[in-house]
Amino acid sequence: MRLFLALVPPPELREQLGELADAAHANCGGRRIPDESLHLTLAFLGEVSDVQATELVDWVRRLTVPPGEWRLDGWGHFRRPGILWVGGQSPDPALTALHGHLWDALEGFDLTGRPTCFVPHVSLLRRARRLEAHGLPAPDLVWGYNRVDLVRSITRDWGSRYVSLARSPQN
Ligand code: ATP
Ligand code: MG
Repeated sequence: MRLFLALVPPPELREQLGELADAAHANCGGRRIPDESLHLTLAFLGEVSDVQATELVDWVRRLTVPPGEWRLDGWGHFRRPGILWVGGQSPDPALTALHGHLWDALEGFDLTGRPTCFVPHVSLLRRARRLEAHGLPAPDLVWGYNRVDLVRSITRDWGSRYVSLARSPQN
């Protein structure tokens, strides 16, 4: 099954991200990612076996995530897939450290795919018609987090559906 580790926004933040997605969609077109799918990917694991998935569920349920606050104050895009996202204008040291810590542990599970660079972002649009954020309000959100989710991505014709398999304990 296809898995990734993510921060899942609390309800109020999800709503605020949804409002940004609406504004972005009105301005840039493309496919707006639905509220229930908004997230920050910390590590994309790809296909894992059922045995690995069971081990990962056990690990995540015992994982301690240092609490942090991520400031989302900028727009960004990935040109090729036409993704418009919201994220930080500057790198976030706490998220970078969390990403590194998670990948250290994942490599202990024989998982590969650790990226050379990590750009924390929340995708809002896919296949956007334009990727400039001119005319959009400057985002200014703070994401307080203290846990991560192990999420299964189920591929469908019209966009993947995500199901959380495990959450780390709340700190
Ligand atoms: P779809 O690929 O079906 O259009 P999706 O991209 O939402 O939908 P996945 O491809 O399963 O679903 O990706 C799950 C999450 O992992 C998303 O946040 C996606 O951006 C991220 N992701 C996917 N592939 C990679 C990759 N190779 N490297 C880093 N992150 C990835
Ligand atoms: Mg994808």
